[in-house]
Amino acid sequence: MMDLKKVKSIIFKDIELVLSNLDMSYEILGDNIYSTCPIHEGSDNCRAFSLSKDKRIWTCWTRGCQEDYGNDIFGLIQGVLSQSTGEPVGFKEALLWVCKVLNIDSHDIKVEKVEEPDDFVKLVNIFRNNTEHQNNKLSESTGVRYNVIHPSPYFQTRGFAESTLLHFEVGDCVDKSSPMHNRSLIPIHNDDGSEIVAHIGRTTKHYMKPKFLFTKGFDKRMFLYNYHRAIDVATSTSCLFVTEGQGDVWRLYEAGVNNAVSIFGKTLTEQQIHKLTSSEVTTLVVLTDNDQAGREAKTDIQRRLGRMFNLIFPRMTSKDIGDMPVELIESKILTQIGGNLYG
Ligand SMILES: [Zn+2]
Repeated sequence: MMDLKKVKSIIFKDIELVLSNLDMSYEILGDNIYSTCPIHEGSDNCRAFSLSKDKRIWTCWTRGCQEDYGNDIFGLIQGVLSQSTGEPVGFKEALLWVCKVLNIDSHDIKVEKVEEPDDFVKLVNIFRNNTEHQNNKLSESTGVRYNVIHPSPYFQTRGFAESTLLHFEVGDCVDKSSPMHNRSLIPIHNDDGSEIVAHIGRTTKHYMKPKFLFTKGFDKRMFLYNYHRAIDVATSTSCLFVTEGQGDVWRLYEAGVNNAVSIFGKTLTEQQIHKLTSSEVTTLVVLTDNDQAGREAKTDIQRRLGRMFNLIFPRMTSKDIGDMPVELIESKILTQIGGNLYG
C-alpha cells in the first residue's frame, strides 16, 4: 500500500506527462513550471500560473484559482478537469484520473481521508429534500429552500427580459449558507413538467469555478432542457429547435419561438435521440454555436440524424443565439426557416 505522499512523488517524477494530459503548454525554469492559468477563462499571461516542483504547490497569480481548488497537485487536476468538463470533479475522480495517466493501480493507494468538498455533498441533500417538497406542493415549483431572487438579476445584466426569466423560473441564489451561493439557478424539469429533476447553477461572478454546477446525481444524458414546455408546439408544427445552451432557448422564446430545447454540452446522446424519434417531430432546426466545437456538433448531428429527420442548419452570424439581439434573430435566422415551423 502507498499513501498520498508517495503518489505525489510518483506524479512529480512524471509531472510533464501529467501536465500534457491536462492539455497545458508550459515552460520550465529551474524549479518552477510556468504557464497561462489552465483554470480561469481568458488567461493570456504565460506566467499567470506557476508550479513549484520542489514545494509541490501551484499558484494562479492573477485570479487565485488555487483558493477554489486547493494548491496541491490534486487541486490542480480537479480545477482543470472541472473547467474542461463543466462539472465539479472531486478529489477521488482526480486521483483516479492521474492513476490512469501514470498507470498506477489505484487499489494500491490508501487514502486516509477522502477530501471531497462538502459543498457537493450538501447539494444532493438540498435538492432531494426540495424535490420531495415539490411533489407535495407543485404550485411552489420554484421554491428552492434557500434565499433566491426572481427574476435573476445576473441574467438581466446579460440582456434577458424580466418576463423571460420569470417564465423560465430563473433566479439568483444570494444565500451565503447555500452551496449555490452566487449562482443563477436554472431548473430542469422532467418531460411532462410535473417535477424539477435538477438545477444548473451558473456562476454570477466571473472568478468562480466551475462555471456550471449541476445538481449532483443528475443524469444529463436523459433530458433535454425545456422539453416539457416545447413539446406541444413542437408536436403541432412537427418541428423542434435544438440549441447548445439554456440562454439560446430563452432568446428564441423572446423572438417568438416556443418550440426550442437545449442539450447540456456539445453532443446529443442516444437517450435524447430516442426522445426525439419517439415524438411526432419530423424537422429539427439545429442551432449549435458558431465555433469549432459547434461545427463538429453539427457534423455529428448530420451524420446521426440525417436519415431520420429533415434537418435545417441556419447560417449563424454571431457566436451563439443567446448572444444575438432579438431583432437579429428575427431578421437573420428566422427568415431562413418557414414561419409554419415555429410558434
Ligand atoms: Zn487562474
